[in-house]
Amino acid sequence: MKIDVVSLFPEFVKQVLEQGMPRVARETGALTVQCRNPRDHADNRYRSVDDRPYGGGPGMVMQAEPLARCIEAARAAQGQTLVLAMSPQGQPLNQALVEQLAQQPALVLVCGRYEGLDERLLDGCIDLEVSLGDFVLSGGELAAMVLIDAIARLLPGVLGAQDSAQNDSFSQGLLDHPHYSRPEQWRGQAVPDVLLSGDHARIKRWREKQALGQTWLKRPGLLDKLELNVEQTALLQEFIGDRQSKGKQS
Ligand code: SAH
Repeated sequence: MKIDVVSLFPEFVKQVLEQGMPRVARETGALTVQCRNPRDHADNRYRSVDDRPYGGGPGMVMQAEPLARCIEAARAAQGQTLVLAMSPQGQPLNQALVEQLAQQPALVLVCGRYEGLDERLLDGCIDLEVSLGDFVLSGGELAAMVLIDAIARLLPGVLGAQDSAQNDSFSQGLLDHPHYSRPEQWRGQAVPDVLLSGDHARIKRWREKQALGQTWLKRPGLLDKLELNVEQTALLQEFIGDRQSKGKQS
């Protein structure tokens, strides 16, 4: 996967690429990232790439031409590529979208600043706007980094165990099951017995039940989107039953 990041703050972006999964993905060769600074394509001696908004009002707007030139340079280097603009007005990012994007051979991520991008760039040069959520950041760099991190861990050979992304929250439409590590007792709380049993079938069943139960507790809306099979329905009922009987005891 090749990713070009169009940003006025390439140093900011590079710092994040030196850590965690993006770093591993780059070291294994699964990911290459190149930063492109619109200032390198400015046509004035101040290297300025923003200007006042037509119609008045506060703030500055990122001009279309330097951004378009960055995108064209990335296209010339990568060939076929999907061009995304990070924007609070975009499609909300979720795991399904991350998985789709991770299949692409190349991406260009355009990071806005100030009031955002000149609208005309969106029509001509941007394939998709992507949002981190219903809040406003001061720039698209953090959003691009979030997307790169989420993609990097899905690229082949990046996560240690082959299937360790498969059980993560959202990949099967459910939240992940709870995790425990040493010690067996911690401040009066024990690790559930089943996890110490060595019985893999029981452990698998417990984890599936917990994933269903945690989703029911924390994000019930996710269950509405799934068609649970008979076994899953029974496991969820068992989870709910366990909680109700615990509630009665206390
Ligand atoms: N005036 C714009 C916000 C501009 S914020 C509006 O209200 O729609 C400046 C830049 O930060 C944006 O161009 C975008 O690249 C980035 N940004 C802000 N919030 C974001 C979000 N929720 N998701 C992704 N990018 C965001």
